[in-house]
Formats: sequence, C-alpha cells, structure tokens
Amino acid sequence: MNTHTTSRVLRVALPVPLAQLFDYLPATDGQFAPAGARVLVPFGRRKLVGIVVESGVPSSVPEERLLRALALLDEGQPLLDAGLMGLLAWCWQYYKHAPGEVLQTALPPALRKPDATLPPAPAQFALTAEGEARLQLPTGRAPAQYALLQKLALGPVSEIGLALEGPRWRTTLARLVDQGWVHSAPLVASEPHINPGPVLTREQRSVVNAFSSGDSHFQCHLLDGVTGSGKTEVYLHLLEPVLKAGKQGLVLVPEIGLTPQLLHRFRQRLGLDPVVIHSRISQGERLGAWEAARSGRSRLVIGTRSALFTPMPALGLIILDEEHDSSFKQQEGFRFSARDVAVKRAADLDIPVVLGSATPSLETLNNAQAGRYTWHRLRQRATQAALPTWRILDMNQNSRHQGLAGGAVELMAETLSRREQVMVFLNRRGWAPVLMCEECGWHALCERCDSNLTWHRSAARLCCHHCGHQRRVPALCPNCRADALSGAGEGTQQLERAIQERFPGVPVLRFDRDSTSRKDSFSNQVEQVMQGGPCILVGTQMLAKGHHFPDVTLVVVVNIDQALYSADFRALERLGQTLLQVSGRAGREEKPGSVILQTFHPDNESLALLISRGYEAFALGQLEERRLAQLPPVTFQALLRAEALIRKDVELFLSAAAESFPQGAARVFGPMPAIKEKVAGRYRMYLLLQSNTRAELHQQIDSWLIPLQALPLGRKVRWAIDVDPQEL
Ligand code: ADP
Ligand code: ZN
Ligand code: ZN
Repeated sequence: MNTHTTSRVLRVALPVPLAQLFDYLPATDGQFAPAGARVLVPFGRRKLVGIVVESGVPSSVPEERLLRALALLDEGQPLLDAGLMGLLAWCWQYYKHAPGEVLQTALPPALRKPDATLPPAPAQFALTAEGEARLQLPTGRAPAQYALLQKLALGPVSEIGLALEGPRWRTTLARLVDQGWVHSAPLVASEPHINPGPVLTREQRSVVNAFSSGDSHFQCHLLDGVTGSGKTEVYLHLLEPVLKAGKQGLVLVPEIGLTPQLLHRFRQRLGLDPVVIHSRISQGERLGAWEAARSGRSRLVIGTRSALFTPMPALGLIILDEEHDSSFKQQEGFRFSARDVAVKRAADLDIPVVLGSATPSLETLNNAQAGRYTWHRLRQRATQAALPTWRILDMNQNSRHQGLAGGAVELMAETLSRREQVMVFLNRRGWAPVLMCEECGWHALCERCDSNLTWHRSAARLCCHHCGHQRRVPALCPNCRADALSGAGEGTQQLERAIQERFPGVPVLRFDRDSTSRKDSFSNQVEQVMQGGPCILVGTQMLAKGHHFPDVTLVVVVNIDQALYSADFRALERLGQTLLQVSGRAGREEKPGSVILQTFHPDNESLALLISRGYEAFALGQLEERRLAQLPPVTFQALLRAEALIRKDVELFLSAAAESFPQGAARVFGPMPAIKEKVAGRYRMYLLLQSNTRAELHQQIDSWLIPLQALPLGRKVRWAIDVDPQEL
C-alpha cells in the first residue's frame, strides 16, 4: 500500500455541505496560490469556485488520484486576508459547520461565480463652482436634482454612496453632469470631515473619556444606555479618532435598524460616505461596497450580520448596536452569532469592540458582571424627554373586548380625543404556544424540571423542551375544573378588526410582515403617522424599533402572558427587552408618554421588578434564575437539529445519534419536537446537549462528529448542529 507521497497540493474549501477540505494539484506545476485566493476546480461533473486554505502542503492522497485545479482566479491575489482566514477557520471549528459554506459567507455573492472579477475603483462625484452657485438659488422644478446637489454639498460621493439615494440616481446625476454642476473625479480614500455634534452629556462624556484614556488594544465594552440616552452620539465620538488616524470602523446593526436616517446621521457628522452591506442590496452594489472596504478606500462600513466578514485591512474599531437583537444570530445554514464572532474578530486584531443596547442580553450582562466586559451605563435621556410611565391593567378585574381591556379602551379614547396617537403592540417574538386556563390562569408545568410545557396543537400533546417529557392535553383545567383551556395568543388581523369596530372613523394602520411586505407600504404608512392627527398603530416587533413617532403618547401592550409562562426559557428576557423598546416609542418629545400592560398575572414577580426597578434589576434577576435552573448563559448548549418528511425517520435518527453521543460531563436530552414542529410538510426535532463548561461540550461534540456522520439514517434526514442556539 502506498500511503507515502510527496505531492505538494492546494487544500481547498468548496461550497458543498461536507465537513472537509479537498486536495488539488496546482493548475500549473510550481504555481503558488496563497491562502485566501479563489481557484476554479473540477468537482464531479461540475466546476466549482473554491478558496485556498493551505498551499504547498503534503497530501495523504496518492498523486495519481489527485485532480488538477483548472485555474487560479483574480491573478492569484488573496481576496480574504490571513486574519479573516484565521477567523473563518475558528468559525467552522466552533460552529461545527462545513468549511466551504463558512468561507462562502465571507465572499460577496457575485464572487461565488467563476466569471466574476474584482471591479475597478468606481468614480466619485463632486460639485463644480457652478453647482455651488446653483445651490444658492431656489429648488426650482427638479427637486430630485436639487436634493442630489444638497447631498454633494457635504462632500464628494462615490457611485456606491449615490446608489443609496434610490433607483433613479443615474438619470438624475447625468442631468447634473450635463449642466456642468457636477463633475467626476477619481476615487481616493475618503478623508473624514468631522462636524461637531451636540455637547455631550456628563454620562456620555465619561464613556468617551474612558475610551480615550484607555489604549486601543482589545477590550469589549458594553454601552448599556436607555433608549434616547445618546448611544449613537457616543459611537460617533468613538469613531472620530479612529477615522482621523486613517483606520477603518465597522458598525453592525440589526436588520430592521439600517434606516436612511441612520446612514444620513453618520454621513453628516463624520463627513464621509459609509459603504453599506446587507442582504437586500443588489449583487453589483454589494460587490462594489465590499471592494471599497477591502481596498481600504472606504473608512466606514455599516451593515447587518452579513457585513461582519468584510475584509478591512485597517480595521480599528467594531461597534455592534442593539447587541441583544436576535437578527445577529443566523438561523439557518452557518448558524453563527455575529455578536460573538465580532468579539472574537476584535480579540484577534487586538482592537476594541463596543456592544450597545438599552436592554443588554443576559449573555452580555453575565460577561459584564464577571468583569470580562467593561460596563458603561447611560441612565438619562440626552434630550429633555422624560421616560414614560408604566401601568398594569389586571385583565381579571376588567371587562374585555376581543383582547382589549375596558380600561385600555377608555385611555385610548382619551388619547385620541387629545388628537394624539396610540400604538397597540402585540408581542409575537419568542412565541411558544402555552396552554392556559382563562378562568384561573393555570398553565402546564413539567413535573420533572419545573419548566413550562409547550402545547403542540396538532399532536394534542404538551411537551417539555428542557427534558423531553411529554403528556396528553387535559380536557378540563386541572386546577379549577373549568372548560376554559385555550392557547394564548390573538393575531394582529383580528385585533385590527376589533379596534376598527370600536373606533369607527379613526385610521388604523397595521404594521407587520404581511401588511408591509410591499416595498413602499411601510414608508407610506410611516409618513401618514408623521403627518400627525389621531390614529392607531397596530403591530408587532416591527413597531418596537428605531422609529420616532412624536405624537404617539400611549402604548398598549396586549397579551404578554404567553411570554410570562412560555416554554422557551428566553421568552421572559425577550419580553423585557421588547417592552423596553416599545415603551421607548412613547412620548419621545414634549408630550409625556404612558405604557399599559394587559395581563391576567398582575402580581408576576419578574414583571413587577421590571416596572418598579427597571431593566437592569429585572435582567440580573433573570440571570440569577438561570443560574439556579442551570441554563445559559451560565451553562452551555448545542442542538442537533434534524428534519424530514417522515416523522419516524427524524426520531430514529436522533435516537441513534443520542446513543452514539460520547460519555462525559455534557449531557444529552431528547429527541423532542421543535416548538414549530411541522414546517412546509417537514417534521423538525432536536437533541439538546448541555454542559457546565464550553470546553467539555465542544470536546464531546468534536469526538461525536465522525460516528454521527457514519449513521446510515443520516442520509434520510437533513441535520445540522446549532452551537449556542437561540431558538428551540
Ligand atoms: P440612542 O442611540 O441611545 O437611542 P441617540 O444617540 O439617537 O440615542 O440620541 C437620542 C436623541 O438625543 C437624538 O435626537 C440625538 O440627536 C439627541 N442627543 C444625543 N446626544 C445629545 C446631547 N449630548 N445633547 C443633546 N441631544 C442629544
Ligand atoms: Zn383553571
Ligand atoms: Zn422537563
């Protein structure tokens, strides 16, 4: 047997869902292909674009069985630098995901194809003297042209920056160039022109000072500041010295947080054009933005989760806003947490990272409490606006109108009569159906571990998502014998109808995924609210963030009980976060705001803590409960998720997988059905793996991977490992 070979090969990651790298001979003998370069290789009958992970390494495959790469792309220059390659390798080991798919995440979609190349540097546009003169005159009959002149008056803008202006920018720009008001100039690295913002408050100043007195080495900072406390203003101050020193900044925001207003604010204050990277821009724009960051021409990248892996040769600071937001965790494929990997990237680069939130996650608070993260608090609003007052409406004591309490209806009517606006908020995130008694408030608990049980409607079973225990749904309430058991939760559409009936003639605007999926409808509705006048906004999480509606003075939160007693142990944390975000929408200006919470459980201790002592006390209380219950972030979890068309296949596969899980400190629970068990005809189940230390959990999973991949049933189901899962 010939196991000995001296071939020097390229070790390549390919976009296939296999947990391995592939060896190829270089396209031509002796050709050097650096790690991070793209190569075109044969794979079965296909040609695939791969990324070189190692070069010139010996292979264990005999030479006659090795295939030759077809071509080295991009003239052999590495598209991903050594630092990023190291980070990505860490990612595939940590998240136990196929290396090729992990590396793909770091490439803009256009470069995943063999014929795409790096684009040339785009042009940049600036005002001419004639253009400056035109700006002094009135707007005239072409407002779009005038608006573009105004934008350019702040400084030259690249094509990438102009593309943010909307679909017709090219036509508008061409008109301006024709008239001699704008000229194009070759693009050079953008220099910041800082415009001073407001004088910092004492709290803001102390954060900024803490930074400038510290050095620029790795440190994770938690910026824990109530809504409107001026966190964004602090980010801008922290970016200033970084940009002035010629370094780059990376700002990550949740999907919903990337608004034109936010971009405008960064641009206006820092006097440079941020490039924007998120999944909804065109492939061409995304490639251009990526190239600008990679070449170092662009100093500032603002983006969502997918922007995390952008190559930035002079990265000096990472900021992650709304760090608790669930959109930072990718929920399919390569299930990484952009927050956790951002901290790792900063540590690798030895630069600071800032996690900002009005409602920090328990993971982050746990790190701050243990002293691993520096904890900065902003407890005052930066403007004079007061924080809203909270009130609990006891649903047991109130008349009810299809989900609305009589007391809430009265307050809504009063608010509308003052010509102010009302927001009715329905919490649906972390929705894990529970069975509750409408008479006495009883809800089902697991006898084995005190967790709340999830109601699986189609199977008529109650299931514990902590230990896997299951039982049948009772017909009557076990506590009061009433025939009043029902799943908690009304939909927004039903609520909208009830509100319309109760307030005829008042405009009711619904904000949720279904009503705002058309592109303009969201902004049209926002505009209608901004025009003022009485109206009622009804919606989900979409309403909770970012928007500033000055006339909204009353927020009614209906149906929080399903989160108080949800089977998902994160539901309470999320409820607290959502309530704070929602309440941040009320009374942002002179008019004071109030928030009403409807509940059958007015004496719930966690809720009382949130209202009387605020989010920090509430969250630390939650953290203590997690400690007692031995749940994350105090312990560590991973899931083995599996799904297939036939339920039995999933169950058998997971049982066999559980059998093959190695002995050790980490324990395995399940199989159990996912909270949303059947999606698009496929049954989804999981095994829960849990340990007191991260190291033990990872060691056991790593030695499990080979037997797991060898399970014959694994071919009948789709399975994946989810490390640090956020959803069950
Ligand atoms: P956050 O990001 O914490 O919600 P922002 O930075 O958006 O807060 O600030 C909230 C509002 O307060 C904004 O309108 C902002 O312009 C204003 N603001 C921020 N800092 C100051 C300050 N030091 N003085 C006056 N207004 C401020
Ligand atoms: Zn009952
Ligand atoms: Zn249990």
